[in-house]
Amino acid sequence: MAEPVYRRVVIKLSGEYLAGPQPFGIDQPTIDRLAGELIAARDLGVEVSVVIGGGNIFRGVEVSTRGVSRPTGDTMGMLATMMNCLALEAALERKGQPAKVLSAMVMPEVSELFTRAAAFRSLAEGRILLLGGGTGRPFFTTDTTAVLRAGELGAQAVLKATNVDGVYSADPKKDPNAKRFDRLTHSQALAGGYKVMDATAFALARETDVPIIVFSIAEPGSISAILNGTGRGTIVAG
Ligand code: UDP
Repeated sequence: MAEPVYRRVVIKLSGEYLAGPQPFGIDQPTIDRLAGELIAARDLGVEVSVVIGGGNIFRGVEVSTRGVSRPTGDTMGMLATMMNCLALEAALERKGQPAKVLSAMVMPEVSELFTRAAAFRSLAEGRILLLGGGTGRPFFTTDTTAVLRAGELGAQAVLKATNVDGVYSADPKKDPNAKRFDRLTHSQALAGGYKVMDATAFALARETDVPIIVFSIAEPGSISAILNGTGRGTIVAG
C-alpha cells in the first residue's frame, strides 16, 4: 500500500456537518459515519487530531445580536464545541477506537486541559485527538484553532472539510462562473477574501507555514483519499 502523504494532520470539521440533514444538533448516522472515516484515516498510520466547530449548537456572533455580550456568546460557542467532541469521542469508542478529548478551557470534570505534552502522549498511544473549546478565547474561530493546533503539534497539514471540493472564486452553488483553484498561496487566499476560512486562520497559517487542504467531506472516503494523495482538494500553501 502507498505511504500516506502526511504523517500528522489536524482535521477541521464544521459543527454544521454533524447536524447532517437535521436543522441543528447532532445526527447519529452522520457522526457514526464520520467516526468510521476518521478510523480509516488513523488506520493508514496517520496521527489524527480533530477540531470540530460548534455551529450546529451555538454561534457567539448570532447570540450577541440578542443582548448577550460577544465574549459571553463566544464562550457559549466554545462550550458547544466540547459537546461535539464528547459525542464524537463516544462514537469513536463505540467502534473500538481509543480517543481523547483535550480542552482549551479548564474543566477537570469533563476533560484534560490541552497541552502539547498531553497531546503528544495521546497521539503516541494511537488515540484520535479531539481538540475542544476552540482557542479558549472569544473573537476567534475553530478554523483558527485548527491552524493554531497544527502549528503547536508540528502537523504537516490542516485538512479543512467543507461541502465543496476546494476553494472557489465565488460560491459555486450560487455562481455558475465560479472558478475553482487547484493551488493558492496563503497570501493569495488572504487577498482573495475567500469565504472558506477566515482571514485570521489564513494569516496564522502563513505565519506558521502550515499548508491547508480544502476538500469535500460529502464524498465517502474523502479524508483517506486526501491522505493518500489521490483526493481532490485545493492546496493553500507557500
Ligand atoms: N469560538 C470562540 N473562540 C474560538 C473558537 C470558537 O469564541 O477560539 C466560538 C465562536 O462563538 C464561534 C463558536 O465558538 O462562533 C463555534 O465555532 P465556529 O463558528 O468556528 O464553528 P463552525 O462554524 O466550524 O461550526
